[in-house]
Amino acid sequence: MHKFIIIINLCFLAACGTDTSKNKSYHLAFVGSDYGLYQTFQGLIDNFNQSAGKTVLFLETDATKASSQIQLVENMVNITNFDGIAENGILGDGRPVISQSQTKFGFKTADNKNYSMVIKFDLHFIQNSRAKGLAIIFDHEVGHGLEMQHTANIKDIMYPNCEITDTDKDFDGYFKAVRNYVGDL
Ligand SMILES: [Zn+2]
Repeated sequence: MHKFIIIINLCFLAACGTDTSKNKSYHLAFVGSDYGLYQTFQGLIDNFNQSAGKTVLFLETDATKASSQIQLVENMVNITNFDGIAENGILGDGRPVISQSQTKFGFKTADNKNYSMVIKFDLHFIQNSRAKGLAIIFDHEVGHGLEMQHTANIKDIMYPNCEITDTDKDFDGYFKAVRNYVGDL
């Protein structure tokens, strides 16, 4: 009878994917050699952490210490430029990378998940856009890295399309969701 109860508990954990690990922080490597762009991402990450109220993202100078990546892609799409601001096109791509290691008893539980992400941006867009537009796209792709899906409200950071000159984006709602996801760091 005792054995039976233990098995039920394990199945519950595995089936529901209940995530009890509350220590999600991300060590990002910047893949590239342009120091100016490195500084751009350092600024975006500093602002992100400040708004989140905790250090969620780290930019690593030593790539071997990183489990997550920022990649820049040339010509991600054809981009229409207007005064140096990209108007149309896919400007970024973000994905979570979640691996699961087995415990010494061979069970996979929510406790031994490893969280990382890969976020990609169009090189031309990053080089030419203004700070506010960059923050919206950066936060959007990091959101995907934090397993967030697109939403239907145009004010949301996770709305699939954005005018990067938007002035009334709901950053507060976005960072509330970030805090809920990463838990108590
Ligand atoms: Zn998206």
